Amino acid sequence: MTRIFDNPADFADDALDGFVAANRGYVARVDGGVVRSTEVPAGQVALVVGGGSGHYPAFAGLVGPGLATASACGNMFASPAAGQVYRVAKAANAGGGVLLSYGNYAGDVLHFGQAQLRLNAEGIETRTVTVTDDIASAPLDQIEKRRGIAGDLTVFKIAGAAAEAGLDLDAVERLAIKTNYRTRSLGVAFDGCTLPGAKDPLFHVPAGQMSLGLGIHGEPGISEHAMPTASELAELLVSKLLADKPEGAGDRVVAIVNGLGTVKYDELFLLFGKIEKLLNNAGLTVVEPECGELVTSLDMSGLSLTLLWLDEELEQYWAAPADTPAFRKGNLAPRPPRSQASVTAVDESDVEQPTEAAAELGRQAVAVLAQVRDVVVEHEEELGRLDAIAGDGDHGIGMRRGVDAALAAAEAASGASVGRILTAAGEAWSERAGGTSGALWGSAIIAAGQALGNKASYSGEDAAAAVTAFVSAITELGKAEPGDKTMVDALLPFRVAFLTEFDAGAPVDRALAAAAAAAGSAAVETARLRPLKGRARPLAEKSVGHPDPGAVSFGLITARISQHIDSRLRGSQAVPAGNGVQA
Ligand code: ADP
Ligand code: MG
Repeated sequence: MTRIFDNPADFADDALDGFVAANRGYVARVDGGVVRSTEVPAGQVALVVGGGSGHYPAFAGLVGPGLATASACGNMFASPAAGQVYRVAKAANAGGGVLLSYGNYAGDVLHFGQAQLRLNAEGIETRTVTVTDDIASAPLDQIEKRRGIAGDLTVFKIAGAAAEAGLDLDAVERLAIKTNYRTRSLGVAFDGCTLPGAKDPLFHVPAGQMSLGLGIHGEPGISEHAMPTASELAELLVSKLLADKPEGAGDRVVAIVNGLGTVKYDELFLLFGKIEKLLNNAGLTVVEPECGELVTSLDMSGLSLTLLWLDEELEQYWAAPADTPAFRKGNLAPRPPRSQASVTAVDESDVEQPTEAAAELGRQAVAVLAQVRDVVVEHEEELGRLDAIAGDGDHGIGMRRGVDAALAAAEAASGASVGRILTAAGEAWSERAGGTSGALWGSAIIAAGQALGNKASYSGEDAAAAVTAFVSAITELGKAEPGDKTMVDALLPFRVAFLTEFDAGAPVDRALAAAAAAAGSAAVETARLRPLKGRARPLAEKSVGHPDPGAVSFGLITARISQHIDSRLRGSQAVPAGNGVQA
């Protein structure tokens, strides 16, 4: 049970506020997470970690000299939204570039990926290393599909030490990749955990049983066992990890026994003693181990073993000092506090001064979003039904939540440029929609907004650049291929039709009409495909004969935007000549 809260919906935020109050010497609160409250030397690589809340000390507890520069903190067990990651990274950036590192979960990949696109587009060089240590989540030949658990600590620690030592972004990234590649973990659970305000645990493990490889959010394990003795458990964990050891592994390892929430320290130490003996018997020397709570899951009963196979350079950075609220090692000279101004990220687009014409175009963008909202509302139920055939049935409600939030944010920003309006709308969309499609729509709208920027009139080339940016954001983040049965199967024909018409000299409204028609028929045609990506994949057969919900909603939305622009042009006296769309 999680008992201490006022309003369960505010749990993550309230807990983070209290954490900051208790650790002001280490961290300061920024929108979306925490950043080091001590000075970060100019030019130092910023290591920005993060993920859902409920895993303390991951992630905010690992912020401090020698470890992370900042942490983006999502809701309970939910990825931080892309806008939060972006703002935290901007506050953390000290001019040496940003390394984003987090456990490999679909939501985190989308949101951190979207933030990375934005940071790079603004000239803040940003790289990503996802942590994939959990051997239970995919076989070794698909290591990139593995999720991240307590191996977060080894990757963050070594990358953070390398950044602290003044290494550049290339070098810090290389060390993080190498550490991740040499880190393996395996967890067991004896019982589930309960989200604040929930009556029942997220999952159960039957009494007297142990689930091997169960994920930290209750993702399915690989096998069930009768509760073993400590010696048997040590033997099981060690043998599985050694069987999965990385190529080129030497004989010096870091071993981490991690408690997931309610296993007592005495039990963890007892197990650690047995594990160390087994590792020694296997010819391994254990170097500077850890035994305690390092990556938890609320009140989950369970633990994990992590091994990192060291080499000389990894050992040097593992052993380097670090000083954070939850993880301290060696001695670091005390750091002076950061100036308050540098803790607050300034978003330059907040201080833009749009001309009246640019602001009028911004208002037209709000009107387009209002149309998008209407068409989503009209089709909300139908989209939900379509997603229920082989997915989880939330596409209608997710799109609705996203577009409602986007329109509200756009209206609140009215008076700003098109770029600013769309950025606000896209951020709100991905923050509120939840689900894959929400993150993709949000980033695509932001990307289109960044392409359009703050201008008093837009050319056809600008429109083509916005279409390209919209589509590229989705393909780069979602990585779906044509034929995977996703919205990409409607997006690509949309882009091709738009650019073909436009290159042939058609005005934007005509190119858009052709593109929307192409998207609509491509969406219908997805009915014959089997889904190869996203949540519908496991129920692929059921989906054949029905179109992909994300493709259908994209077709509906683009058709509505095209109609809206047509009727505006027909209604207005001044139809612009040539390719231009003007206020
Ligand atoms: P979720 O799948 O998280 O429940 P939604 O139901 O809102 O999210 O959206 C489902 C739609 O998202 C799918 O129909 C598909 O078009 C789209 N989608 C899923 N994964 C991807 C991806 N990797 N790239 C592009 N689109 C995707
Ligand atoms: Mg869905």
